[in-house]
Amino acid sequence: MAGDPQADCLFCKIVAGDVPATIVHENDTTVAFRDINPQAPTHVLVIPKAHYPDAASLAEQAPQLAADVLATAGQVAAAERVDGTGYRIVFNTGGGAGQTVFHAHAHLLGGRGLNWPPG
Ligand code: 5GP
Repeated sequence: MAGDPQADCLFCKIVAGDVPATIVHENDTTVAFRDINPQAPTHVLVIPKAHYPDAASLAEQAPQLAADVLATAGQVAAAERVDGTGYRIVFNTGGGAGQTVFHAHAHLLGGRGLNWPPG
């Protein structure tokens, strides 16, 4: 069923505590943890606890949960003190855009200058 944990999903395992992660924020519906291969001084992944394969399916099937992810990203940005200088929230969607983990996640990037357009 939509949203149910997937046995082969890395981020479902992080939600369950079966794979360790440096968690910086957690609430009833979302978890935020540091990316294992950071691309900026602040690089935090914000995920819904429920499993949706990408941002589009999350927004379509669970719009409040999509909003929760964005709200958590904003709270983490403030806690990381990157809100003053600016930060970026990225949802890579599809393999062609660089998505490698098919559990919806927002990348929160900040703490350095960010070029536009991104690569
Ligand atoms: P994507 O490429 O799907 O947009 O982003 C997946 C992100 O997950 C990558 O930035 C990658 O570094 C990160 N990642 C992959 N495996 C792990 C892991 O085991 N732990 C953590 N914390 N991040 C991971």
